[in-house]
Amino acid sequence: MDEKYSMLIDGKLIQARSGATMEIVNPADGKVFAVAPKGSPAEVEKAVDAAWNAQPGWASMYAGERGKFLFKLAEIIRKHYDELWRLETMQYGGPRLKTSNFDIPTAADMLEWMAGIGRGLSGLTLPVGSSARAMTVREPLGVLGLITPWNFPLVTAIAKVSPALITGNTAVLKPPSCAPLTVLRLAEFVVEAGLPPGVLNIVTGPGSSVGEALVSHPKVAKINFTGDSNTGKRIMSLAAAAVKPVASELGGKNAFIVLDDADLDGAVEGAIWGSFFNSGQNCGSCSRLFIQESIYDRFAERFVAAARRLPMGDPLKPETMIGPVAYRAHRDSIEGFVEGAKRSKARLLLGGERPNDPETKNGFFVAPTIFGECDPASEFMQEEIFGPVVGLTRFRTPDEAVALTNDTRYGLCASVWTKDVRLGMVMADQIKTGTVWVNQHLAIVFEIPWGGRKESGWSKENSTLALEEYTMQKHVWIDLAGTPQTPWQDMIRQG
Ligand code: NDP
Repeated sequence: MDEKYSMLIDGKLIQARSGATMEIVNPADGKVFAVAPKGSPAEVEKAVDAAWNAQPGWASMYAGERGKFLFKLAEIIRKHYDELWRLETMQYGGPRLKTSNFDIPTAADMLEWMAGIGRGLSGLTLPVGSSARAMTVREPLGVLGLITPWNFPLVTAIAKVSPALITGNTAVLKPPSCAPLTVLRLAEFVVEAGLPPGVLNIVTGPGSSVGEALVSHPKVAKINFTGDSNTGKRIMSLAAAAVKPVASELGGKNAFIVLDDADLDGAVEGAIWGSFFNSGQNCGSCSRLFIQESIYDRFAERFVAAARRLPMGDPLKPETMIGPVAYRAHRDSIEGFVEGAKRSKARLLLGGERPNDPETKNGFFVAPTIFGECDPASEFMQEEIFGPVVGLTRFRTPDEAVALTNDTRYGLCASVWTKDVRLGMVMADQIKTGTVWVNQHLAIVFEIPWGGRKESGWSKENSTLALEEYTMQKHVWIDLAGTPQTPWQDMIRQG
C-alpha cells in the first residue's frame, strides 16, 4: 500500500479535503491492497469549475494540437504497460490474459485512433438558394460528466475521455469505487503529458454522492454513462430536471442462437468465449443460449465439457481464464441467482457450488455454471447476472428463436450461428438489438459503432458515430441578399 493515489482537479493531484479514503480489495484473495481518496460533492464543485474555466481555451485550439496530448497519453500508458495490466487485474479480478492482451493496449490504441479521426469532424453546407448560405458548425458541448463501470475500468474511461477531449470539451471523470486505480494513474499521466489544467478532472467517490452531484451540476452540459440499467434510469431521472442529455451504455441479457445446420465445434467455441470471457462480466456476454431442438443434447454435452476445462484461479497467472468476480457483494448476488435457478425446473449441468480449493477459497470466485432446460421467462433468463453463469433453452424454429431473443427488456447484442448466411441475415434484421453477429460473438472493434436499444441504452460508442455524442451541430444562416428575405416583406414595406 505504498503507492499514494490522488484525484486530479485543475491540474493538481489532491486527496479528499475530508481526508476520507476507500479501501480497494483484491477479489482474488479478499485483502485490501490499496486505498483511494473518497471525494465528495465539494470536490465535484471544484472540478466542474476548473473544467468550466478551461473549456473556452481548450475548444479554441486546433484539433490537431489537442490530439498531440492524446498521443502523449497513449505513449505514457504504453510505457507503464506491465504496471497497468497488473493493477487492473488486482483491482477487479480480470484475468491477466484479458488485461495484458486487451485492456492496456486497447486504451492506448483508442487514444491514438480518436486523436486521428477527431480531426476530421466537419459540418454541412445546406441548399437554401443563392440569396443565403446555410451551414452547420460542429461545436463541443462544454463540460461533460463521464461516469464509468468496473468491468473495463481504463478502457471505458478512455473510450469517453478521448472523444470528449478531441472534440473540444472538458470533462470531469468519475470512475467506479471498487476499481478506480488505473484511472487514478491516468490522473498522474495527464499531469506528465502537460494537459492544460482543468481540461480533464478525475474525482473518485460513491456514485450516490459524487456521481449524483456531477449529474445534477448545472454547469455540466451532458452525462456520458456506462453501467447498470437501473443506475442509468436514476441518472436520467436526475438529469431530466435540467433537460440534460444522458448518453447511456447499459446492461444486456444477450442471446446466442444455434441453428441445427451450424458448425457445432465453432458454435461451442464461440459460446465459451461469449459466455466466459472476463468471467462473464461483459455487457455483451451471452447468457441466454437458444439451441435448436435436434442438436440441443450434442451442443449441451460439448459446451459443458469445454467449460469444465477452463482454468480457474489466480488471475495474475498467465494461463487463468476464469478469475474471481469483482467484489464480495457481486459474488453473493450471482450465487443468489444460481440458488433461484436450482429451485426451478432448470437442470444444473455444471458448477453451481462455491469453489473451495487453496487458490480460490479466500477470493470471490464463481465457477462456470450452466443450467439446461431453462424457462426463458424465468428470473434467471431475464435478469442480467453478470458472471460466468448461463442458461440453455430449446427452440424449434428460427422464428421462435427470434421471438425468444426479443423477449427481454434489454437490447444490446445477439448472435446467430448457422451455415445459411441468408437465414442469418433475415434473422439479423428481425432481432431488436444494437449489434447482431452471424457466426461470431463479442467482436467489438473501434471502427464499428457499439450501443444498444431498449433498456440497454441508446447511445453509440466507438466509430465516427461516437463523436456525434460529444458535439452538437449549430445552424448558422448568412444572408447574401443584403436585406432579410421574409414572407412578410411586402406587407412590412407597404405598412
Ligand atoms: P453501476 O451502474 O453500478 O456503476 C457504474 C458507475 O456509476 C460507477 O462509477 C458508479 O459509482 C456510478 N454510480 C452508481 N450509482 C450512481 C448514481 N446514483 N448516480 C451517478 N453515478 C452512479 O455499474 P457497474 O459498475 O456494476 O458495471 C456493470 C454494469 O455496466 C453492467 O450492467 C454492464 O452491463 C454495464 N456495462 C455496459 C456496457 C455497454 O457498453 N453497454 C459496457 C460495460 C458495462 P460507484 O462505483 O461509486 O457505485
